[in-house]
Amino acid sequence: MAGIAIITEACIDVKDRACVDVCPVQCIYEFDPQKNILFSEEQAGSGEIENSHTPSPEAVAIFGDSILYVNIDECTSCTACYQPDVCPVGAIYADEHVPDGSSLKAYNREDPNKGHDHTFFIQHSRDVFAD
Ligand code: SF4
Ligand code: SF4
Repeated sequence: MAGIAIITEACIDVKDRACVDVCPVQCIYEFDPQKNILFSEEQAGSGEIENSHTPSPEAVAIFGDSILYVNIDECTSCTACYQPDVCPVGAIYADEHVPDGSSLKAYNREDPNKGHDHTFFIQHSRDVFAD
């Protein structure tokens, strides 16, 4: 399905959760290393867990809790989180617009990592959820 949201490396250590607050289905997850769960909140920072999943140990070890993860099976492609005024660093894309580093791809001008191959994160978003 086109339009699924993918979070890429510009989110690393920014993680301000602006995307979480606009997602209507709470499908953007954070990793809790102490509890070893991926959890989503009704509102960012509310402390009220809406959904949780078990992470894949190998996949979650790559970025740990430095980045957020979209569950692409739950994302409805509503487009809210990748509107240009949401993510302060341009880290989140529709899957068909994730930059692959080629000159033919449109980049998000706000993305400090533009030019890098971010298609890695499409598969990683799938791999990180073990259940
Ligand atoms: S596209 Fe919509 S449903 Fe999917 S992660 Fe973004 S806000 Fe949530
Ligand atoms: S993807 Fe963007 S809006 Fe969402 S937490 Fe990361 S930096 Fe913030």
